[in-house]
Amino acid sequence: MNSQTVRIHAFGGPDQLVLETVPVASPAPGEVCIGHRAIGLNFIDVYQRTGLYPNALPLALGMEGAGVVEAVGDGVTHLAVGDRVAYASMPPGGYCERRVMPAQCVVRLPDAISFEEGAAMMLKGLTVQYLLRQTQPQGGLHPGDFILFHAAAGGVGLIACQWARAMGLRLIATAGSDEKCALALAHGAAYAINYRTEDFVARVLEITGGAKVKAVYDSVGADTFMKSLDCLAPFGLMATYGNASGKVPPVDIGVLAAKGSLYVTRPTLFTFLASRERTQAMADDLFGMVTSGAVKIRIDQRYALADVAQAHRDLEARQTTGSSILLPQ
Ligand code: NDP
Repeated sequence: MNSQTVRIHAFGGPDQLVLETVPVASPAPGEVCIGHRAIGLNFIDVYQRTGLYPNALPLALGMEGAGVVEAVGDGVTHLAVGDRVAYASMPPGGYCERRVMPAQCVVRLPDAISFEEGAAMMLKGLTVQYLLRQTQPQGGLHPGDFILFHAAAGGVGLIACQWARAMGLRLIATAGSDEKCALALAHGAAYAINYRTEDFVARVLEITGGAKVKAVYDSVGADTFMKSLDCLAPFGLMATYGNASGKVPPVDIGVLAAKGSLYVTRPTLFTFLASRERTQAMADDLFGMVTSGAVKIRIDQRYALADVAQAHRDLEARQTTGSSILLPQ
């Protein structure tokens, strides 16, 4: 069987994304073949396209999707042909009609969640799950606590705003326009700062009455890292989990002492998804948040798979809000 698949043959700009017909093998032991109904777009795909996160070439991009199980390899017991499923995957390879992948990454999708929502929420929602539930400062996060969340109107960001509200946290959002700030507020942020026009450190001090926040979740990287440290209360936690503005430059670790015995972590989702049991437990938590209505998955951009280069251009130009999905024809 074949699959229309988007691959790159060299690292570079969106023009490197080429739609090709590639053969799909039968699943090996421990693998499953999924026919996609929808595919998630993530900023990580940009890092892989440019080579910031290097992989062997040619490379099929895409780490998130939803669809139907078409074939199952030996030893796979939790999935059957015909199941509705979704996943966040390592290795990449999701920009396609169908793919064979490790079954360990794949979970059954509740009937109440559509394929489009599944594709828009797995990588982003599991990221919010591990950030807000499993990446907390010493002593944990409690209702009323302030946290700072950058790029809060994006795919990960809008899920985080809603999830934080459900936990009773006071999430201070940053975003790159007044419209994006309004969106973050409408999704549960307690405060929002346009960090392209306002000094976010000064605003955080003002909002918290000088007490600062217990944790910062920073996916912007180079532009925000050092200033984010100035927003943290003593013993606060800096979770730097992305590089949308570029990689964080090397840091003199002594600044963590000077700024109040701070903690810094550089987590990645795929450490948290190391076993099928953990993946299922995190997915169950995410599905519960969505089916209860606490978190709504907002899909603001839909593209045909063949238009993936435009999707990348829009994402990199900060033109998108919420989640974006690709639809195979
Ligand atoms: P988003 O939808 O959030 O898009 C990225 C956003 O980053 C933009 O919309 C923009 O929002 C902001 N941004 C700030 N500076 C720049 C810049 N110079 N160029 C482009 N964008 C910029 O993407 P995702 O939801 O897919 O991912 C959010 C972040 O989370 C990414 O950095 C991603 O790598 C990271 N991530 C990390 C994971 C991990 O486990 N470590 C897992 C999943 C995601 P604005 O205009 O409001 O500033």
